[in-house]
Amino acid sequence: MNGMMMQSQLTLTGIMQHALSNSPNSEIVSITTDNSQFRYTYKEAFKRSAQLAQALARLGANNGDRIGTLAWNDHRHFELYYATSCSGFVCHTINPRLFPEQIHYIVEHAEDRWLFIDPMFVPLIEKMVDRLNSVEGFIVLTDRAHMPQSTLHNYYCYEELLDNHSGDFHWPELNEQSAAALCYTSGTTGNPKGVLYSHRAMTLHTYGVLMPDVFAIRRDEAILPVVPMFHVNAWSIPYAAPAVGAKLVLPGPKMGCGETLSRLIQQESVTIAAGVPTVWLALLKYLRESGEKVSSLNRVVVGGSACPWSIMEEFEEKHGVYTHHAWGMTEMSPLGTYNARIDEYLPKNEAKALRLKQGRAGFGVEMRIVDPLGSPLPHDGIAFGTLQVRGPWVCERYYKAEESALTVDGWFDTGDVATIDSLGYLTITDRTKDVIKSGGEWISSIELENFAITLDGVAEAAVIGVAHEKWAERPLLIVVPETDGKLEAKQILAAFHGRFAKWWIPDDCIITSEIPHTATGKISKKDLRQQFAQHLWP
Ligand code: ADP
Repeated sequence: MNGMMMQSQLTLTGIMQHALSNSPNSEIVSITTDNSQFRYTYKEAFKRSAQLAQALARLGANNGDRIGTLAWNDHRHFELYYATSCSGFVCHTINPRLFPEQIHYIVEHAEDRWLFIDPMFVPLIEKMVDRLNSVEGFIVLTDRAHMPQSTLHNYYCYEELLDNHSGDFHWPELNEQSAAALCYTSGTTGNPKGVLYSHRAMTLHTYGVLMPDVFAIRRDEAILPVVPMFHVNAWSIPYAAPAVGAKLVLPGPKMGCGETLSRLIQQESVTIAAGVPTVWLALLKYLRESGEKVSSLNRVVVGGSACPWSIMEEFEEKHGVYTHHAWGMTEMSPLGTYNARIDEYLPKNEAKALRLKQGRAGFGVEMRIVDPLGSPLPHDGIAFGTLQVRGPWVCERYYKAEESALTVDGWFDTGDVATIDSLGYLTITDRTKDVIKSGGEWISSIELENFAITLDGVAEAAVIGVAHEKWAERPLLIVVPETDGKLEAKQILAAFHGRFAKWWIPDDCIITSEIPHTATGKISKKDLRQQFAQHLWP
């Protein structure tokens, strides 16, 4: 027997309409390349989304068309999110930090019809325009005064495009299964793969993100997404903030700048901020040097890679800010697990071990670990295996793929290696491709890195497996010293003794001024492995 409830569709249009009815006056504050202090309300933002929707219809965009964006976190990008998805188009966010060849591949693969670009990316696109077969034209996210000269065809100014439309637009009734957004993985192995998010998945994910033991954002809060809007929908914050009516603070192109982040937090009384560890290192360094305080800030969400304890400790002890560790991936929209506040009922030293874990699955995500044959392993905090997930916001197949991305019994293989304990806490021990296999035994590169980063004078650390004559592979530690810092390889390696089993201790330590990063700001172990392939066995 079926239930007898309404069949309302779960769409992003619903979030927009809810914000318009309930929080029209909540603010969006944004830095853009042409304005360092832009401020308006959700009501004004969504009116401009409607104007943009009219402009897109006028340009001839059709249902399901992919509309590409190459843009930082600002209010125009926010308007685009809703104008495209809620018109039945697909908002395809592209990471401008990728290599030009990857950007070209992604635009071609997605068959983007129009590209919306920040002014500084015009030269990048000009260089590949002859090879962009699907793109009909380009809209630069700025006003007339700041339009760069260009040879691009069908070249429009965003503000002018909007000015020609009234905003009196009837949003279409969309099916919740229709595609809303598209984001490509960074392609650390092979070509980037597209994850095509549906309205339903995005809406349910927004509920998931907002839950009390997850981001728990309230109407009276201000949230600063430092995670880019071109990467997994900025962890859903552009949907979650209007869903509850919280103030949204967007740092524009200044995401890695500690000074800008500190100013925005102080001026806008930001209470919650989210981003990868690298941006918090930059903010903490700036705060240390300037002596500034971020007293409104209550909590920071850290994900994308393992969060070192040094970040959690400094935030808490110097600024009274609680750090929540979160884990997810592009294929999971991205929320997987979240480490909710636990120090309120656990002594600090006991809490530390738990807080370093990646947290527990929110309702909506199921997790299991399996052995190499695919058999489930116990959740005892000891057994480790390949992490698999399932749920309504997990990818079923990649864009244009003919085959499902799932195992025969319907799980998505994350490519991470992990343990899960009896209370559901996840610990990522590695990515399958980063695991070091020494003499047939696994060594966790993440555990070694987490320790290395706590050592005095170490700014960044990576551990990779490199070929070894006897053990097949051995760990190699690569560290970057803090500015003006002096490090001794011997001393660093000595610190590992007594903390780790002898055979886990890296065979060597390389001190270098720079470690290569991927387009999403993570350490590029692929490049390091290439660079140091013959270090131990020439
Ligand atoms: P890519 O790195 O290819 O751009 P994602 O941004 O989707 O892809 O990254 C997902 C991966 O990042 C996860 O599979 C995991 O390996 C890693 N990751 C994300 N959050 C964490 C975390 N808190 N701790 C450790 N690893 C993490």
